[in-house]
Amino acid sequence: MATEIIVRPWQCIGCSTCALTCSLAHHGVFDTGRANIRICRDEFAGTFELRFSSTCNGCKQCARVCPSGALQLVDVPGKKEREVSSR
Ligand code: SF4
Ligand code: SF4
Repeated sequence: MATEIIVRPWQCIGCSTCALTCSLAHHGVFDTGRANIRICRDEFAGTFELRFSSTCNGCKQCARVCPSGALQLVDVPGKKEREVSSR
């Protein structure tokens, strides 16, 4: 069964675990600047926006480590993995 990432930015706590995991998985370093996901804080509203770059390969490592549910993996019944977009 395939999975896809559900994104709920209003649940993001800004911990950067997703970005650090992405950079480690793909570049071998802890560097949010090299991650394929960006966490952008709206200082006025006190909220976060999550943006995936065009270089994101849909590996879903970020969603596996998100502690808040802002990125969550969900099963997609009846789909094979390659048929499902990452987000
Ligand atoms: S799905 Fe994209 S943003 Fe998430 S870990 Fe994989 S490459 Fe990085
Ligand atoms: S999406 Fe999840 S892992 Fe990423 S900064 Fe927000 S709470 Fe942390």
